[in-house]
Amino acid sequence: MSAPAAHDRAHAAPLGERAGGLLSRLDTQPRVRDFLRRAVETGRASHAYLFVGAPGSGKLDAAWALAQALLCEEGGCGACDSCVRVARRTHPDVHVYAPESATGYLVAQVRELLEDVALAPIRARRKVYIVDRAEQLRASSANALLKTLEEPPANVVFILLGTSTDALLPTIVSRCQCVPFRMLSSERAVGAVAHATGLPEARCRTALAVAGSPARAAEFLKSAERQEARRQMLRAVDALLRADEADILLSARDLMGVIKAPLADVKSTQQAVLDQNADYLSRGALKQLEERNKRELTARERSGIMEALASVRSLLRDVLTDVEGVGGEPVNEDFSETVGRLARATTVAGAVRALAAVDAAERRIARNVTPQLAVEVMLFDIRKALLCR
Ligand SMILES: [Zn+2]
Repeated sequence: MSAPAAHDRAHAAPLGERAGGLLSRLDTQPRVRDFLRRAVETGRASHAYLFVGAPGSGKLDAAWALAQALLCEEGGCGACDSCVRVARRTHPDVHVYAPESATGYLVAQVRELLEDVALAPIRARRKVYIVDRAEQLRASSANALLKTLEEPPANVVFILLGTSTDALLPTIVSRCQCVPFRMLSSERAVGAVAHATGLPEARCRTALAVAGSPARAAEFLKSAERQEARRQMLRAVDALLRADEADILLSARDLMGVIKAPLADVKSTQQAVLDQNADYLSRGALKQLEERNKRELTARERSGIMEALASVRSLLRDVLTDVEGVGGEPVNEDFSETVGRLARATTVAGAVRALAAVDAAERRIARNVTPQLAVEVMLFDIRKALLCR
């Protein structure tokens, strides 16, 4: 009859004030945090949320935080096995979906989601489905999802993420609890990263420019490999002024190796999860998990490349600021010599055209051009742009 003491103590402290929980770290969106905390505390979580806000407002971070709070027996303690798994993105009952084609969600993705919804949770008492960029659900997929949103199984929570309610089917919006996210001022975002990591603001500003949201920036600052990928990318741009074609091709190839380096970790985590679950999952469920793992690797590789491109964009903005002579601290303080060198070699028009080359590379990758080719073309175009006077 005696309940474990630790369990009681945990319940005595207000939720979210306990160490480590992701929900308590959502200090950049205090209203959202308090709202979600109350929902979890009172056991009145909705079965479908729609997080609405501009890119970078932290919707995905909040979705992970809510997933952690919903699956943890203590409402998101941050320390238990379940919380650790959610934080490492290896909890088998949290499913994250993002559009897998340039034009949006694939019909097969939504079909897989709907099949999965019907299955029992693997570890927790419920399952969480995070649907990123929900506006990219095409009409037929959105309608299929709608039926499930109308009558969801009791143990399922959907978290849809979108930039505005206008871009979504009104029938979807009306079935979800809408949670608006505010755009953060850059100073508050930098402050949040500095608070989370204890690192100097200059490094936090750089990380934000590369990674987007405060939580992703904090993660970036913990990954030596991702920071090395940024540095190598910027060194490649620095070397452009004196590079010949062979140099550029070589550096694009080397860059791909560095960008893919963090994937080794993801692969070994995925294998560990597969091994742990091999005994009690059906063959069909295992196959589904394997396919999801493959897609996760592709998505991670893509986000590594997007991060590398964001690094270049940030560096070129520093160059543009320098050429324009408007002053101000460069975002890439550790590359201030590179910024100066490139600024002396180019003009305002050159820097603007170089920035356009980064946008073009992003578009090519979205259209499934191989990343290495997209980076090669981008480096050639940046060199041409910077040197054209
Ligand atoms: Zn927990």
